[in-house]
Parts: sequence; C-alpha cells; structure tokens
Amino acid sequence: MEILDILYIRMSTFLGLIKEIPDISVDRFDGENLNSSVYFLSHCHCDHMQGLNYKFFEHLKQYNKYLYCTRISKAFLEAKYCNIETCVKDITLDEKILIEYRSKNCDRRIDTFFVTCISAGHCPGSVMFLFEKMDKLVLYTGDFRINPKDYKKIASLHYRRDFNVFPKRFNKIYLDTTFLDPDFTFFPTREESIKKICEIVNEWLEKSPRNVVVLECSALYGSEFLYMELSRFLNIPIHVKDRVYNSYCRIPDLKCHITNEPLVTRLHACINKLDHSILECRTDVLEKDILIIVPSAQRWKGKDTSIVGEWNYYRERTFNVCYSAHASFDELKKFIYYFKPEEIYPCVCPKGLEHKIFHLLDEIKNKVKEEKDMDENHKYMLQVLKPEAINKPWIKYYYPDDNNDNS
Ligand SMILES: [Zn+2]
Ligand SMILES: [Zn+2]
Repeated sequence: MEILDILYIRMSTFLGLIKEIPDISVDRFDGENLNSSVYFLSHCHCDHMQGLNYKFFEHLKQYNKYLYCTRISKAFLEAKYCNIETCVKDITLDEKILIEYRSKNCDRRIDTFFVTCISAGHCPGSVMFLFEKMDKLVLYTGDFRINPKDYKKIASLHYRRDFNVFPKRFNKIYLDTTFLDPDFTFFPTREESIKKICEIVNEWLEKSPRNVVVLECSALYGSEFLYMELSRFLNIPIHVKDRVYNSYCRIPDLKCHITNEPLVTRLHACINKLDHSILECRTDVLEKDILIIVPSAQRWKGKDTSIVGEWNYYRERTFNVCYSAHASFDELKKFIYYFKPEEIYPCVCPKGLEHKIFHLLDEIKNKVKEEKDMDENHKYMLQVLKPEAINKPWIKYYYPDDNNDNS
C-alpha cells in the first residue's frame, strides 16, 4: 500500500470580485457575483466555473449582460450549453478592448474600463486578464504557467519608454498560488516531462503489439497540452471519455489528437484512476500488457524533481512523472520579483494552508520592497550629484576617495 501524505485540495478559492474594478466578476458566477455587470472566464476548468449554468445564462440574457472569454473557451462552453452564443463574447489575445457597461451604482450611467487577454499557458484557451480603469492596473492570472524566460516576450505586460521596455507595475496581482509552497520549488518544464513520457511510452509500445498505455490523470481536465504533444509524437490519437471528447472535438487543435473509439488506439486517457488494473474500454487487453503513466505534480511534494520521472515502487508497470500546468514555487517568486506588484491576492488558498500562504507572500513582498527601496536609493544618489561634481573629469566618479569632494 502506497503511503501518501495529506493532499490539500489545491483549487481556486477566489470568490469572483475584483475590489479595484467594481461591478465585474471573474471565474465565479454565483451569490454576490450575480449583482455584477460584466463577467469574465479565464479558462474552462470546473473550479473556475462555479455558478456557470443555464440559470446564469438566462440571467445574462434577461439583464443584457455579457460573459467574456477566449474563442476556445467559448467553444468549450458551447459544447456544454445550447443557445448561449448571444450572451458570450469572445475576445482576441493581446488586444486591448474597451468594455462599456451600465454601472449599477451612480444612477446607472455608462461606465468603461479596458481589458487585455494574455495567454496563460495553462490549458488550451486559458488566459490572464489585465484590467485597466482610471489609475488602476490589475492583473488576474487565472491558472498559469509561463516560463520566466518568456516574460519579456509578452508585450501586453510591458510598457515602452525611451526605446526601452519595462515590466508594468500592477496595483494588484490576483495570483494562481496553487504551488506557492517550498515543497514544490522546482518542476521540470512541460517539454522535459513530455519528452520523458514519450521515451517510456514508445519503449513499451515497441516491446509488443499487444501492449497499451494508460494515462492516469488525477482530474478530468488539465492535461490537454500533454495529450496533444504525446499524440503528435507517437502519431496516434488518445482515447478519452465521451464527455471529454464531446468538448475537445470542438477545438481543431485538440480534435486531431483524440478519439472516442477505444479500438483504434493503444493510448488511453479514458479513466481517472485505474481500479484493479482493468481497462474497461478494452476487455481484450490483459492486465500484464498495460503500462500506467501517472503525470502529477502533487505526488512530487518535497521530492527531487530533477529526475523528472521514476518507476512506482509499490505498483507494477507504473511510471510516475512530474508534470505541472501551474507555476512552481520558484517560478511564482520569479514572477513576483519581475513585476513587483504593490499587492498580491492569493487565488488558491486551501483550508489549513491560509496562514502558510500569507506568510510566504509576506516574505516575498518584503524582498520586493527591499529591492524597490534599493532602486529608490540608487535614484536618489544620482539626483544629489552636486553640479560642480558633474563638471569634474569622468574618471573621478570612479574614485570617490578623491578628497577634492570636500572642497
Ligand atoms: Zn485550471
Ligand atoms: Zn480507453
């Protein structure tokens, strides 16, 4: 029996309201959020879709309100709900959009703000939202994983001055804190994880024509990039549950990598957990011919993730791979150090971990503050250069022991 320590449920606990931009709701559609005037959905995973149902869409139609999301998320929604196209608007990536809406306060006058969707690298269609209203600049990351090397490439998160590019300074970041925990400091990149999986899978399939592979993912959704890359590499589609198929087949990029026919493929992601090693969709396959791949980040808590993957000691023919669609602790720190926001709100705060998360955020924010102060001091020192000092030959600046300074 494998011993696992307590796994906290690391899901969005964000309640939907953005304090700095009143009247809008993001990723929550129930309770108080029904009073909002404009809605946003960052991506189609269940913990970001609470309250999203037919009743909610009826509410939008009745009050002439809209839900904004990406084209891909809209396609996912349309696979699940009928007749919603009029109240769901898709927005293009990296385009600053002006949203006009009737404010519920202030005699219901027309109010405006800007929003930009930025790819979040979490799953197909997932985005961060950059909100701008008056002097407020707020970033809601949704679930995200972006390689720190790529921050600079994201134009919408930077501003230009004097031919230079600087990271935008946000008043607040609503942050995906899923792995804000030193026990999850480093994750392999998804390319590294997928490369490892491809190696193991390929080897197994080549061993015997009877061999099949089962991908045992912990959640119904969330491994979309993994499916796409694995299927592309092996050039075979992946069998998924009918429910998943009906939603994925709406997305051209995904459709070609999945199937709802179990007999046409040796790659299966049609189960959540393989109980008693039986592949239900293929009764012709023997237990000994099944290789199980377990992609997970949670299982690697506190472990050495530099090895990327390892055989399961307790379970036969099972290979565990460290795979994450969320930023690691180290990546989160790099994100905060890079953008230096004034405030951070943790959007994933599981019960029992609140104290730890706020403490870690305080530590990180203090470091950011120290760096900011250092920057300020540096500016200050440059400003107090005495006019006579400027007239001195340049070489003297590099030798401050020059006692002429006191003259
Ligand atoms: Zn998600
Ligand atoms: Zn299957």
